[in-house]
This record gives sequence, C-alpha cells and structure tokens, in this order.
Amino acid sequence: MAAAAAARCGRDPCGALCPLLAYLSVGYADYAVLAHVLHGPALRGSPWCPFHAVTFNLIVLLLLACHTRAVFADPGTVPLPGTAIDFSDLRSAAPRKTEQSPEEWTVCSRCEAYRPPRAHHCRVCHRCVRRMDHHCPWINNCVGELNQKYFIQFLFYAGLASAYAAGLVLVAWLGPAGGDGAENRVQTAHCIVLLLESLLFGAFVTVVFYDQVVSIITDEPVPEQLRGRGLKEAKRPRGCRAKLALLQGVFGNGCVLAWLFPCSCGTPAGPAYAPLPACDV
Ligand SMILES: [Zn+2]
Ligand SMILES: [Zn+2]
Repeated sequence: MAAAAAARCGRDPCGALCPLLAYLSVGYADYAVLAHVLHGPALRGSPWCPFHAVTFNLIVLLLLACHTRAVFADPGTVPLPGTAIDFSDLRSAAPRKTEQSPEEWTVCSRCEAYRPPRAHHCRVCHRCVRRMDHHCPWINNCVGELNQKYFIQFLFYAGLASAYAAGLVLVAWLGPAGGDGAENRVQTAHCIVLLLESLLFGAFVTVVFYDQVVSIITDEPVPEQLRGRGLKEAKRPRGCRAKLALLQGVFGNGCVLAWLFPCSCGTPAGPAYAPLPACDV
C-alpha cells in the first residue's frame, strides 16, 4: 500500500502537502503544550503537569496511529478484471434475478472494474472504491468501506487534541503570572499561535466529523452487510437500532470501546458479498 500511496502523491500534490502540514501542526502543538504551556510560569510546578503531559501525548499518539492506518489502509478498492472481459453478452442477455441483485452491479467506464452497488470511481486513485465517501487530501487516500473507521477516529482525536490544547492555554492564561517579561512574551506568543491553530483545526475536524457520522446514521440504502444477512427492505429496523446497526457496519460489531482504537478487531474483514457475482460469462 506504500507504493500506492506514493503513486497518489505523484498524481495529486495536495495529497503530499496536506499530510505534511498535518504532521507539522501536530508536532508544533505538542512542542508548544510541553515547552510553553505546561512549563510556563502559570502551570510550572503544578502536580497536574505530568498528568496533562501524558494525557495530551496519548491523544496525539492515537491521532497519529489512526491517521497512519487511514493513509495506508485499502479503502475498499474494487479489483480490476484480470483479463479483458467482453461484457456485450452480459448486456444483451436477460438479467438474472438472484438474491444479490446483480443487475445493480455496473461496469466502470474508466477502469472497467465490475463493481458492486455504491462503489464509485476516484479520479485521483484511478480506481473504483466500495462505498466511497470522498477522496481526502489530508489522508492522501479515498475514504471508503474499509478505512472510514480510521478516518473518523482521526477526526475524533484531532478534535479532542484541539479542545485539550485550547483548554490548557486558557488555564495557563487564567493562572498566576510569573517569570520575567521576556519569558512571558515568548509564552504568550506561543499560546496565541496554539490557540488559533486549535480553534481553526478543531472547528474544521468537528464539522467533518459531524458530517461523517450524520451521513452514516441517515444512510437510506440498506448496507451491504445487512442485505447479505437477508434483512429485507420492509423489515429494516428504524430508530436507534437502525442507527446502531449502521454504525456497526463501519466500526464493527465488537465492544463500543473498541471503536476508539485503530484496530481491526470486530470490524468486517471485507464485503459480505463475493468479489464477483456468479454470472455465466
Ligand atoms: Zn472505476
Ligand atoms: Zn481516491
């Protein structure tokens, strides 16, 4: 997947610049929190400093782990046909009615992949991706069926780190001032930059996080996982159960606590449907 990520960078310069900007921003925030907020005149010597340092770094570590998995994970790329397939017979033949409704499968006009319902072609990746949400330059990858969980976790931890950093800056400002004038000026300058960065990134990731969660829980079409288990459209559960089922389709059926970690435990290993439906080609 590293080779694929490098190839995407070549096609989309934003895909190389945005992750670099994200790493620099996270690195600066960590430096500013440790060197200028927690060791500033207001908080220096406080028994809470080690706790804040460990907690903030833990959030940053989880943020980077989720980001890395979102970058390098396969978003759900639809395999290309091994050999050129002549679909003319398929088009002319009467559609076969089966449980998996193969008539909803389509052939991509760009990459020629025979793709399941709700797969879309990405112009940057040059491939079709199952349940593609969008191509995100911040992870230099598509957000699709298999990596949406990691992308949403990255947004969650980025928002949490932003709120934490902004909170620490406010505590440092409200605390007693100390040290000499020059030290205070340097600390104030870093606090202002950190606060602006936290507000900017925090607002951005919160909006995208909200948008992602709403798009999952208001999903109208039945997810392929549920359809594979024979859940009919008419019997689809409504309300909280339906929303939980939709969230489980992305985050996995395991313990809800596992939703917080970038692990693949409890998550669907892949599509519930076969890569290719049975067709007499
Ligand atoms: Zn395609
Ligand atoms: Zn893409």
